[in-house]
Amino acid sequence: MNSLETIKKRMSDPEHESSASTDSGSALQLQDITRRFTSGDQTLTVLDGLSLRLNSGESLAITGPSGSGKSTLLQIIGTLDRPDEGSLMIAGQDPFSLSESDLATFRGQAIGFIFQDYHLLPQLSVVENVLIPTLALGNVTEAQRERAESLIEAVGLADRMGHRPGQLSGGQKERVAIARSLIMEPTVMLADEPTGNLDRRTADEVTELLLKMQTQANAVMIVVTHSDELSKAMGKRHELQDGKLV
Ligand code: ADP
Ligand code: MG
Repeated sequence: MNSLETIKKRMSDPEHESSASTDSGSALQLQDITRRFTSGDQTLTVLDGLSLRLNSGESLAITGPSGSGKSTLLQIIGTLDRPDEGSLMIAGQDPFSLSESDLATFRGQAIGFIFQDYHLLPQLSVVENVLIPTLALGNVTEAQRERAESLIEAVGLADRMGHRPGQLSGGQKERVAIARSLIMEPTVMLADEPTGNLDRRTADEVTELLLKMQTQANAVMIVVTHSDELSKAMGKRHELQDGKLV
């Protein structure tokens, strides 16, 4: 049975976490993932039997030319798109075996997304933006508000809690996005070109911050990037080539 309670229990069970780092399964495991897109009589195989395994605390940069399938791969790992073949396991769970509503809850808890263009809501304050992922579970608790504030302090924005995104620089907005990605204590952090809109110096600061926050959270982090600097800072590097990671 795959009820949400079982998932939550398993995700917060320390015994399960320790077994997840051994042979019984990695924090993130992709096996023979294939994704095709068909238009008319043309079929394009974007991911072609791709496999990947990462443990808690590991970071990976994925590079590759435009159109090589990087975003498609992130969408699948983020459980926003389903593969045509192959399996995905996150924290010992096959997310695609869940109902749509349980999958949405699982996604909210297990995955932290960081986008190049931030995806912050302009009418909300920094604290409120960081709390957005908690809203799906109901009212914001005092503990969640405190966690949001400590994450905002950790990303260096203690004096900007009440600011709106429009009052922040690009680097500061990216910091808010990093704090938001961690509010639910995710198993996996996914970042698509997180430094793509930033100048070199700000990009370096955000890179350092990403790694610091990921290490503290003991999360898996996958970063898609064209930046040599960012990719070299990650623990592992793979290029997406012919639908596989090399
Ligand atoms: P990247 O992020 O590496 O630039 P993408 O994953 O966005 O590459 O796209 C890989 C290929 O898959 C491209 O040729 C793109 O046109 C195609 N593709 C992506 N999403 C879809 C879709 N929903 N329908 C049809 N083709 C798609
Ligand atoms: Mg892309």
